[in-house]
Amino acid sequence: MGKVLQIGVGGVGTVVAFKLAQHPEIFNEIVLASRTKSKCDKLAKAIGSNHIRTAQVDADDVNQLIELFNAEKPILVINVALPYQDLTIMDACLVCGVNYLDTANYEPKEEAHFEYSWQWAYQNLFKEAGLTAILGCGFDPGVTGVWTAYAAKHYFDEIHYLDIVDCNAGDHHQAFATNFNPEINIREVTQKGKYYENGKWIMTEPHEIHQPLTYPGVGPKESYLIYHEELESLVKNFPTIKRARFWMTFGQEYLTHLRVIQNIGMARIDPIMYHGMEIVPIQFLKAVLPDPGELGENYSGQTSIGCRIRGIKDGKERSYAVYQNCHHEEAFRETGAQGVSYTTGVPAMCGAMMFMTGKWKKAGVYNVEEFDPDPFLKALSENGLPWKEFFDIDLEI
Ligand code: NDP
Repeated sequence: MGKVLQIGVGGVGTVVAFKLAQHPEIFNEIVLASRTKSKCDKLAKAIGSNHIRTAQVDADDVNQLIELFNAEKPILVINVALPYQDLTIMDACLVCGVNYLDTANYEPKEEAHFEYSWQWAYQNLFKEAGLTAILGCGFDPGVTGVWTAYAAKHYFDEIHYLDIVDCNAGDHHQAFATNFNPEINIREVTQKGKYYENGKWIMTEPHEIHQPLTYPGVGPKESYLIYHEELESLVKNFPTIKRARFWMTFGQEYLTHLRVIQNIGMARIDPIMYHGMEIVPIQFLKAVLPDPGELGENYSGQTSIGCRIRGIKDGKERSYAVYQNCHHEEAFRETGAQGVSYTTGVPAMCGAMMFMTGKWKKAGVYNVEEFDPDPFLKALSENGLPWKEFFDIDLEI
């Protein structure tokens, strides 16, 4: 039992806060902090719990974070702000002796490039301080890594092929919207593709490789190979992997909008001068696009995210698939947020629960697949995201 401090109250943060509040026996004090305090107050009011307090903080500023952490003295900080703030929050955790959890790896603002090296560099510092940092505890990264660890623990002697498949078959009834922070999302999906094969990283043009894949409860959907951050840690932590890829479904309408946005320069991340003022086009675009946190009301359909794995058990080849399907309407009914926020927020709460109950606690900086997958996956099912396994089926890829 103890106090947690959550930073960020956007789409994902809304779900995390709702879910934390459902477990007062573990999270007996919750502090919601963000750049805009009024949003924290609104969320605290919507949840209606009397053990939530709110605070204002600019998480780009280490000194503000240190002041807040020293005033609140939380055991754990749950970072569901943006990837830009990961390092400042980790720095403040080290100064104040606070444990850390996030859902996305660090990315510098001025470069659309994400990798774990920046956060892995904190390994010794967290170890020496006796603090735990849990990295990438959303759905993907997050559950997908835990599933891989679960498959390695229970079903395989060696994992050889890993394909993570992410389908959103929902309809938000908007011409164009992103399902999480538009700036982060557009930076991610417009990058070159990349996958791992036989010890090397292979680059592709954006969306160059695609094929229809069949998702349980959804059917076939065109799926595009993109680079996703969990591939980096999974091939390191499971060195028997020969090939690891990540696939995501996109509709034609979404891809057309994305192409136009790029062609007209609205995806640019470098500052330009406009009427004597510096603006960053993608940040301006974010301001006019629908807020992903507000998409829930008219969202229908479901997400279906899974891992497809091939490898060896007792000398024989076997295949395994594991999926979670989440209905946008159900997510909205419970938390007022859509399914993508829900599938990210629930695992973040489960990771926090694992830490607070001592099941995921070791000094240092770890990706989720480095902890025991069993109690986390049990908590996931019990907290709104049940999952399903398939054995020795055609994996299509
Ligand atoms: P939103 O943009 O909806 O919310 C971000 C929140 O962080 C807002 O409350 C925002 O405040 C706050 N924030 C931003 N900058 C600062 C700052 N400098 N100081 C304090 N607070 C700040 O994003 P999402 O909820 O969609 O995404 C949150 C995180 O989840 C992102 O890192 C994203 O990459 C990650 N994610 C992970 C997924 C996974 O499966 N692992 C999937 C989806 C998202 P304000 O409102 O004032 O701007």
